[in-house]
Amino acid sequence: MSQSTDVAIIGAGPNALSLAAHLGELGVQFRIFGKPMESWLDHMPRGMLLKSEGFASNLYDPLGRHSLRQFCEDNKLPYADMGLPVPLEVFCDYGLAFQRRAVPTLEKKLVVSVTGKDRDFHLGLDDGEMLHARRVVVATGISHLAHVPRAIAHLPADLLSHGWAHADLARFKGADVTVVGGGASAIDIAALLHDADARVRLVARRPILEVHSRMRLPRPLSDRLSAPMSGIGPSWRSWFFTEYPGIFHHLPADRRLRWVRTHLGPAAGWFMAQRIARVPQLLGYGLNGAKAVGGQAQLELVSASGVRSIKTDHVIAATGYRPALDRLKFIDPELRAAVKTLALAPVLSSNFQSSVAGLYFMGPIAANSFGPVMRFAVGAKFAARRLSQHLASGVRQKAVGMPKAVSEVQHDGSVVGHA
Ligand SMILES: Cc1cc2nc3c(=O)[nH]c(=O)nc-3n(C[C@H](O)[C@H](O)[C@H](O)COP(=O)(O)OP(=O)(O)OC[C@H]3O[C@@H](n4cnc5c(N)ncnc54)[C@H](O)[C@@H]3O)c2cc1C
Repeated sequence: MSQSTDVAIIGAGPNALSLAAHLGELGVQFRIFGKPMESWLDHMPRGMLLKSEGFASNLYDPLGRHSLRQFCEDNKLPYADMGLPVPLEVFCDYGLAFQRRAVPTLEKKLVVSVTGKDRDFHLGLDDGEMLHARRVVVATGISHLAHVPRAIAHLPADLLSHGWAHADLARFKGADVTVVGGGASAIDIAALLHDADARVRLVARRPILEVHSRMRLPRPLSDRLSAPMSGIGPSWRSWFFTEYPGIFHHLPADRRLRWVRTHLGPAAGWFMAQRIARVPQLLGYGLNGAKAVGGQAQLELVSASGVRSIKTDHVIAATGYRPALDRLKFIDPELRAAVKTLALAPVLSSNFQSSVAGLYFMGPIAANSFGPVMRFAVGAKFAARRLSQHLASGVRQKAVGMPKAVSEVQHDGSVVGHA
């Protein structure tokens, strides 16, 4: 392997693998690092069903040869575009097969450091190799971003973990476990713990757990008109976010941030309604504090009706992920400081480029720029196409000796292009 590359891709989830598949077709020289499908294989609970419909649970290659539908057909697995939830295990197998076929050059190493400046980066790999790259794409997804509420963060590791830590919930058999959180992940983990014979309860600030209602299929015309289907669910707004992330990017920053914050509340898939009903729930309770007492965690909970305390063997914080640049510690602090941010995430040009030329970000950390669709695998469709075309055009211009087209990100997030 050369010690220098045009493009280095950090990550091996749906975004990074889709980008690599596109770059391969376009003949762009790249190296890609990461553990394939790691977030899904090692950090989501076995037995989980994907919330995204079959047609929106893909990795993307330019010709669409490696779709989930095709994978299921080849392996004689049940598949439907809509209405048949995709098991996590099937999606993982599919992602690994995609990697083997479309991105065989993936190197299963981690990047431990990124230093440098405009179009001149040095990457350190976990096997000691140092690599020079002219352009770097950070596609590390939800890894590094797990968020634990401050009120419980000080509990020792044997009493507290984040949902991120759990692929196998069987080890909690017989234990008293408290899941904190009211979103899809909390609901999935609590229901799966119940199936694994843990004594589980769910504590959530919200007074009601939201679970999507089941869609009528085939969708009647009235449903399709009032709420057209999209990769992130049925509604006109979701449809706009999924079809037009490039236009979303041009909206004023405050509007973008508001929609990213508020669109798609933390609701579970329709198929969880009955399963979560079996789990004891403390709804409308916030966390006021926590301490370790006699080998257990004691949680102090507050609600409109007062304060109560519970003791539990282990707390799982299913409290989400915060897409913040300063969590990506493998990027040198000086380089991170040079990246302009908005609400903690990098400000990105229409080509996913940060304010440091040659440094790109895709996936959930790009949501403030390109909208809520970036939090889902289906967001890779737009991101991989747009970014690969941009990276390939850089190569073509270099090859014929043209001056480089430069897109610069301004403080307000707008982009100025010049040659
Ligand atoms: C419980 C749960 C359920 C979800 N369900 C769905 C769903 O049903 N549908 C959906 O579309 N989305 C779902 N999501 C969101 C989903 O996680 C993201 O859409 C998706 O993972 C983003 O893909 P990605 O490629 O950006 O990153 P990830 O899939 O998170 O991949 C990150 C990659 O980065 C690599 N990496 C990290 N650090 C380094 C490093 N230093 N060096 C090299 N490589 C590194 C990892 O090895 C990994 O390969 C769910 C998320 C959670 C938490």
